[in-house]
Amino acid sequence: MSALDSVRDLAGTAAHPPTTAAVTGLQCRGCGHQQPATATHLCEQCFGPLEVAYDYEVIRARISRRRIEAGPPTLWRYADLLPVKGGDVVTLDEGFTPLIHARNLGAELGLRNLHLKNDTVNPTNSFKDRVVAMALNWALQNGFRTLACASTGNLANSVAAYAARAGLRAVIFIPADLEPQKIAATTVFGATLVPVAGNYDDVNRLCAELASIYDWAFVNVNMRPYYAEGSKTLAFETAEQLGWTVPDHVVVPVASGSLLTKIRKGFDELYKVGLLDDEPQVRVSGAQALGCSPVAEAFIENNDTIRPVKPDTIAKSLAIGNPADGYFALDVVRTTGGGFGAVSDGEIVEGMDLLARTEGIFAETAGGVTVATLKKLAADGVVRPDERVVVYITGHGLKTLEAVAPTSGPTATIAATLDAFHEAFDIEES
Ligand SMILES: [Zn+2]
Repeated sequence: MSALDSVRDLAGTAAHPPTTAAVTGLQCRGCGHQQPATATHLCEQCFGPLEVAYDYEVIRARISRRRIEAGPPTLWRYADLLPVKGGDVVTLDEGFTPLIHARNLGAELGLRNLHLKNDTVNPTNSFKDRVVAMALNWALQNGFRTLACASTGNLANSVAAYAARAGLRAVIFIPADLEPQKIAATTVFGATLVPVAGNYDDVNRLCAELASIYDWAFVNVNMRPYYAEGSKTLAFETAEQLGWTVPDHVVVPVASGSLLTKIRKGFDELYKVGLLDDEPQVRVSGAQALGCSPVAEAFIENNDTIRPVKPDTIAKSLAIGNPADGYFALDVVRTTGGGFGAVSDGEIVEGMDLLARTEGIFAETAGGVTVATLKKLAADGVVRPDERVVVYITGHGLKTLEAVAPTSGPTATIAATLDAFHEAFDIEES
């Protein structure tokens, strides 16, 4: 046995989870094989992707709308449906973000019943706090001391913050060309930042190699099954905020594709455990940037194979050229009767502007992708005027300020006199 193997072996034995009684193990999404809930993301039979399996009868017996409504105003109110125990968790009060009825944006797009799930107000200003909270607490409950990740930026911010909160070490790998704001918002938490000369897919590959050697909790590698479950809470909250009903149609940004598939899974689970009266029929649509749209392309070309691409877009948080869950996302969009859109960098900036000036929400480039795609899908009749639509806004605009800076600068600088003001600005007095 090599030194590497013995390290790996130790990591394996350390990773037996004291998770909820409802977790029955990990199940392969490819071949269906069940295995124990350890720190791994690959099926021991076929190397397919794993996800957490639950005993829904146990959850059904325990859970109720009242029990949830009496819980904390965070995603931990849904602990019964999550892979780590609630109660004694390390948290920054992530989740339970506002669902806003977007009347102004809806009027612009011809949609009468449009809602925005505003995840820009999470602790580190993106939806990643949901998934990191899962990975962190699973890692803590299983004795890990280092939290690591491959990131396009938002995940880096979140992992750094949550590691600081928990007193763990953070080691974070990013593509070297990341936005400066996201780099500063990571190192401020004391994380070790490792810029890699390459794109996200290169960084991710390196992390997969490191995860097999180091006994670290890589949140989106060996923690991935637990991590990804955090995204379901977006569906749980949406349904609860709509009075325990589901939307007709959701529009979700697609990077790895995991978020989109988990939102669908979340609605289905609510029904399985008896929290919804009717079986959910939610159409799911995906949004990508034209400069990185492998899943949208497969959908539009009616192809089952997702061809990896080299990303070239200002929407860096969605720039995953070889999306791990792309196939599953494609399948969800097809089977639910949704659509896919891909938008240019110019349309992304327009989408950010449109959202900000109609609803007062400043979203990062990913939000611009989602709003611009919504606009396209509404114009094409894929999103229908009478549908109750929920759109997921996943990150804050201050993270990608340079995207709007060229078009959103000051109009003019004036002398401090009334004359100068009147000369430079033509604004009505009331
Ligand atoms: Zn398998």
